[in-house]
Amino acid sequence: MKLNRVGFVGWRGMVGSVLLQRMMEENDFSLITDPVFFTTSQTGQDGPDVGNGKKALVDANDITTLKNMDAIVTCQGGDYTSNIHTELRNQGWNGYWIDAASTLRMAPEATIILDPVNQPVIEQALADGKKDFIGGNCTVSLMMMALDGLLNANLVEWISVMTYQAISGGGARQMEELITQMGQVYARSKPLLEDKNASILDLDKVVIDTMRSDQLSTSQIGYPLVGNLLPWIDKDLDSGTSREEWKGSAETNKILARDDRPIPIESTCIRVGAMRCHSQAFTIKLTKDVPLGEIESILDSANDWVSVIPNQREASLNQLTPAHVTGTLDIPIGRVRKLHMGGEYMSAFTVGDQLLWGAAEPLRRMLRILSQH
Ligand code: NAP
Repeated sequence: MKLNRVGFVGWRGMVGSVLLQRMMEENDFSLITDPVFFTTSQTGQDGPDVGNGKKALVDANDITTLKNMDAIVTCQGGDYTSNIHTELRNQGWNGYWIDAASTLRMAPEATIILDPVNQPVIEQALADGKKDFIGGNCTVSLMMMALDGLLNANLVEWISVMTYQAISGGGARQMEELITQMGQVYARSKPLLEDKNASILDLDKVVIDTMRSDQLSTSQIGYPLVGNLLPWIDKDLDSGTSREEWKGSAETNKILARDDRPIPIESTCIRVGAMRCHSQAFTIKLTKDVPLGEIESILDSANDWVSVIPNQREASLNQLTPAHVTGTLDIPIGRVRKLHMGGEYMSAFTVGDQLLWGAAEPLRRMLRILSQH
């Protein structure tokens, strides 16, 4: 079935740009009769050409036009969602709302979408007449794609996660600032790097002095990230955990429809200087002692994108890194081993592009699911 009028808001932001790129690659616009592109800042300017020429952008705050859409896909952000979704629903709009922002994720009427993992939950929501379908937190979605096999086989008793999250999670301007910081450190270090007699301690001092100086650009990230890491992401919940860490447990259990019997998940979320791949190290207690080979085969066969990387040095260093995975839909999981604590304990490490499975991919796949209903 063709979708009739679908509105796109936030399509030129970082998540929105990746969404459009993927939709073009997969020929998704052939499923939509009339795609309409909205903007909060460029009304009347040319929209993107997705196959039928460019049309003028429509004001994203124009409720009357939005109400004519059968579905709205938004990557505009939480403030937009708070204002416009509420207004549209108050005015009786009954279309599908597909959103990258976190605002509605935990709302009872909303479904968090990650169809390779929770297709039955999505199908049930559609059957129940639900209309709000929200992409999950990037770290959560990537973890669930990687651990899909163990989660769906009910083999997970609890998970402890250490994350190593890319700067792209902070938006395009923070990505730019990380590169600027790299350049500033290099510029100050260059004379010493070129001086064969310079001591490593002098070089080290120039680097740390630059990182600590007010000449390092920090207006977007807030702190030095080059040569550094930041052990806090998102808001402080005043409970010893960050909002990012809270999402790990809350969203995972909602995606699995396990709110009544949640899997305990504890996270420590850390920003590192990677560009757009999040990495995560898991310690997992299984519900029973499963042989390692069986664990690997359960993980590897869970969906079309996850693959187990042999727990060997060369394979890990070549295939289990942000540099290798960026720009692909691959979800490698490796460093899989049993722990000395006992047969039910294992660890693993995964990497995934947080703009693809972590943000844009579940949204475009939701449009496909709708087109099949
Ligand atoms: P973003 O890059 O800041 O883009 C959001 C909007 O900012 C754009 O649609 C655009 O709206 C406006 N904008 C202003 N200046 C711009 C410029 N120079 N280039 C492009 N756009 C510009 O936001 P985002 O990172 O894509 O995130 C969008 C939503 O997705 C947020 O709710 C976020 O929490 C969520 N999300 C993000 C990620 C992630 O990894 N970044 C992952 C999952 C979910 P107009 O065209 O209307 O001006």
